[in-house]
Amino acid sequence: MTQTSADQGRANKAGFETRAIHAGYEPDAMTGAVNPPIYASSTYKQDGVGGLRGGYEYSRSGNPTRTALEGALAAVEDGERGFAFASGLAAEDTIIRALTAPGDHVVIPDDAYGGTYRLFDKVAKLWGTAHSPAPVADVDAVAAAVEPGRTKLVWVETPTNPMLTIGDIEALATVAHDAGALLVVDNTFASPYLQQPLTLGADVVVHSTTKYVGGHSDVVGGAVVVRDLDLADRIGFHQNAMGAVAGPFDAFLTHRGLKTLGVRMDRHCDNAERVVAFLDGDPRVTEVIYPGLASHPGHEVAARQMKRFGGMISFRVAGGVETALAVCERAEVFTLGESLGGVESLIEHPGRMTHASVAGTDLEVPDDLIRLSVGIETADDLVADLDRALG
Ligand SMILES: *Cc1c(COP(=O)(O)O)cnc(C)c1O
Repeated sequence: MTQTSADQGRANKAGFETRAIHAGYEPDAMTGAVNPPIYASSTYKQDGVGGLRGGYEYSRSGNPTRTALEGALAAVEDGERGFAFASGLAAEDTIIRALTAPGDHVVIPDDAYGGTYRLFDKVAKLWGTAHSPAPVADVDAVAAAVEPGRTKLVWVETPTNPMLTIGDIEALATVAHDAGALLVVDNTFASPYLQQPLTLGADVVVHSTTKYVGGHSDVVGGAVVVRDLDLADRIGFHQNAMGAVAGPFDAFLTHRGLKTLGVRMDRHCDNAERVVAFLDGDPRVTEVIYPGLASHPGHEVAARQMKRFGGMISFRVAGGVETALAVCERAEVFTLGESLGGVESLIEHPGRMTHASVAGTDLEVPDDLIRLSVGIETADDLVADLDRALG
């Protein structure tokens, strides 16, 4: 296997889909295999003491299957270096410990992914890294939450989950940089196909590759991508020192998913637009939340920084919590379940499922809210399923 730096990162000027399919890996020099082999090897024979072949010595530090994925991740985010982790939360934990120290402070979204909030509130806090929540849609409120000198990271999700709030990445990068902090963007909901935060001034991109990048609900993983080589060294050091790496089988599956991200995302967006058109104006639905709607408060910013508006939709139903639960249970093509971003459509009740742990806090979501992860099935079947489920 050969890999040159020109294959990955910002040196690769090919189009998005070409990078997704080819970056990070050249057909195997010996066999011509077009896909990276699954290198199920923990260690590597050395040609004399310290004589490493391709830099490989032990698979926590580096594994060729993971290297291929990491090169492709860097290329699709228009970054310089990519890192693959065992989960999205493992990637986040590595960022926190690489880029903050006890006594430091982080601004986080006031509607952060529940696991991210838990990581800051129950884990990072004990380690001494404090956090304050702020609404990502309100640049002034984020600026007000920054404590100059103490805030090391401004952490943003856009769109957020499940209210699909939009943060202006360029403006938030300025807020962070003016305070001497770094901007971290969790790009899970948009995926690198729809939004590339590093090109808008973000310093660090993090993903749960479990979602759209993997795309088939068959693997859990995480990623970090950066441009700055000093940041890359710090993340890379902690990836090895903390050890939450993606294994070769998981790296293979994630990389396979990444290759079709562009076509999948376009279909997710097409289908979501059809579903939004059906829900919007239906008397059984009181509100549709989708950044593609002109009525969405973040529509203009989303239109500027995203290629399209994604496959996630939230909506509220007339009839309150009982109706919302019944709709979730009556749906058949939409599978009742947590997670998102796979080829299959999912429906869930955030108040009782993904966001049950934030009930009674500022992050509480309306109890008549339903969240859809619109998959890539036949759009007519999705609309008919929702029509039936709404009763
Ligand atoms: C799922 C998710 C995570 C956590 O990723 P895991 O792979 O489940 O550890 C982080 N951020 C967002 C926005 C997510 O949806």
